[in-house]
Amino acid sequence: MKTAIYPGSFDPVTLGHLNIIKRAAACFDKLIVCVMINSNKMNTGMFTPEERVELLRRVTEKIPNVEVDSSTELLATYARQRRARVVVKGLRAVSDFEQEVQMAIVNGKLNPKLDTMFLPSSEKYTYLSSSVVKEMARYGADLSDFIPREIIEDVNRKAAQSR
Ligand code: ADP
Repeated sequence: MKTAIYPGSFDPVTLGHLNIIKRAAACFDKLIVCVMINSNKMNTGMFTPEERVELLRRVTEKIPNVEVDSSTELLATYARQRRARVVVKGLRAVSDFEQEVQMAIVNGKLNPKLDTMFLPSSEKYTYLSSSVVKEMARYGADLSDFIPREIIEDVNRKAAQSR
């Protein structure tokens, strides 16, 4: 069974993330979407890690080979535990490239059985990030072009609470 991991913060999941999830799920037997919890940033997001997992589960429930999880481990360790050989990353612009290649090399050193595969962002979403979504939500903008409709209310509610 070919298992891949798609790691990220997903605070919150965007249509750009979902596009990568669907394309990667079509390439592997199983795709584990994993909310990586960085202990330094534990309480700095819009959503808690548990909430991010819940939103991801809601928007991926119709894709049978996708599992959503969270981890506080290093990605290389988590991949070993889950017997995954591939990490999937989305690349939006050249600016993502340098850091992503660096991470891919480090992860490969920590876990030589692990390789990284990059999927280019669909051109509709190259400008999209969770930070852009949070910024727009704070100003009450219409989010329907940016995040899955099933989670719009949750994001608007959080943004209103932080105003
Ligand atoms: P963000 O920058 O949105 O906070 P994350 O840390 O959650 O992103 O990103 C997880 C992964 O998803 C990374 O590989 C990132 O490059 C990719 N990604 C984020 N937004 C997009 C997008 N709009 N299109 C394609 N890939 C994306």
